[in-house]
Amino acid sequence: MKLWRFNGGLPSLAEHKNESVNLPIEHAPVPAKLVYPLRQHIGNAATSLVCVGDKVLRGQKIAAARGLISAPIHAGSSGVVTDISDHLIPHPSGFSAPCISIETDGLDDEIAPVPHSSFQQLSIPELITIIRDAGIVGLGGAAFPTAIKLDNQSKTRNIETLILNGAECEPYISCDDRLLKERADRVVEGIEILLHLLGAKRAILAIEDNVPDTFKSIQSAIAVNNNHAISAAQIPTIYPTGGEKQLIKTLTGKEVPSGGIPADIGIVSINVGTVHAIQQAVIEGRALTSRIITVTGEGVNTPRNLEVRIGTPISTLVDVCNGYTKLAERLIMGGPMMGFALLNDEIPVVKASNCILVASKHEAITDKKAMPCIRCGLCASACPTNLLPQQLYWFSRSEQLTKAEDINLFDCIECGCCDVVCPSHIPLTQHFRYAKSALKVQNHEKHLSDIARDRFEARDARLARDQAERAERLRKKKAVLKEKPAKEELDAAINRSKAKKQIASESKG
Ligand code: SF4
Ligand code: SF4
Repeated sequence: MKLWRFNGGLPSLAEHKNESVNLPIEHAPVPAKLVYPLRQHIGNAATSLVCVGDKVLRGQKIAAARGLISAPIHAGSSGVVTDISDHLIPHPSGFSAPCISIETDGLDDEIAPVPHSSFQQLSIPELITIIRDAGIVGLGGAAFPTAIKLDNQSKTRNIETLILNGAECEPYISCDDRLLKERADRVVEGIEILLHLLGAKRAILAIEDNVPDTFKSIQSAIAVNNNHAISAAQIPTIYPTGGEKQLIKTLTGKEVPSGGIPADIGIVSINVGTVHAIQQAVIEGRALTSRIITVTGEGVNTPRNLEVRIGTPISTLVDVCNGYTKLAERLIMGGPMMGFALLNDEIPVVKASNCILVASKHEAITDKKAMPCIRCGLCASACPTNLLPQQLYWFSRSEQLTKAEDINLFDCIECGCCDVVCPSHIPLTQHFRYAKSALKVQNHEKHLSDIARDRFEARDARLARDQAERAERLRKKKAVLKEKPAKEELDAAINRSKAKKQIASESKG
């Protein structure tokens, strides 16, 4: 298969996969307490459907999607709702947000799944509803509600290529690789569901060339399935080849336009973990209540790939990995390049958590002291989205956020390539994250102020209209009043004249 090369990237980034890539998936125990942030997807936070004291079962919907872009949340085990209040959430801000807490009862009772042995017998709207109700979001880290992505594209039917993202390019993470090795048949069945749903002509499952065994597993599963629309592609191991736009460029040579989405060029791209969740929802009839996570780094005694109930505190996973080592310095959710530091290990795992990196000092790559920019241009050469990080840095630092937006700040995928190559150790990505958040707040405030201004102008216009109407009514009334005496006078004159004529005629008689 012909492949293309995207700009920049890091071909020789230390992979650190050996620590966990050969470890089979194990099931983490159900913890005593599960915690569910109501917002663990892009869009509106879900709305709680339970009250403190309610008993719940595994798979029971405990929070409903609110509005168009949102996703429901399901209990990961049976137990009792003990709290609905703010709790620390896994987010770079370190903020707390509303969460539902469940004390588990150790029984792990489940609501009866609703399996479908044949997805072909389901209509497209039925499939979309199943995926929506199962609470599935992008498990590669994006956490965008999957049903919305699929619903839009299933209606237009203009998707030619479905890309399955198995390129786990970030160092240390091996959860998708283990999934593809151990559950390749389920992933391929999930791909068939998506082909049916989208009407796409072909599906390409991309795997990096540093995991040849995984490629063989998936090829065997495709051969057994015998669907000629599905193929697997081995792609070069270059960070961040698993970025959506970089993967599309690598496989098709096409560029997603700035500010656009893959569907604009006839492509839908989905992470392999999400495909697995879709297969589980449709065929097994189970909502998304668990996911595979790599727990690794020099800070834990025994790295593992774990199937974990969503809502499990990180402390439980560290215990399963035989605890912290003396080197444990920092907890990172995600990998060292795109992950973010966590305040403590009571924070729960959410749908988008693919890795817990318990990093030692030298693994936490952002610890070096920043120095002034020397304008070497290395950051621009490494940027996989053809940006000018040095310029973006300048505009972000000097709070010229609109100028940063003008040079495509929002195209930055926060891959961290510029950070790695920067000889001055400037935490560029951190600046870009901050600038994006500040711009979002600014744009949101502008939006609110536009709404307020429109409302004010509409009120002014209404008052002016009312005043004009009142003036018109008054004018008409005055005109009537003015006409009234004149008419009365005329009537009186006519009457006087009539009376005179009558008297004259009577005196003649
Ligand atoms: S790599 Fe660092 S020092 Fe070089 S231009 Fe970019 S920001 Fe400046
Ligand atoms: S973090 Fe952003 S600016 Fe830096 S290399 Fe990645 S995409 Fe480019």
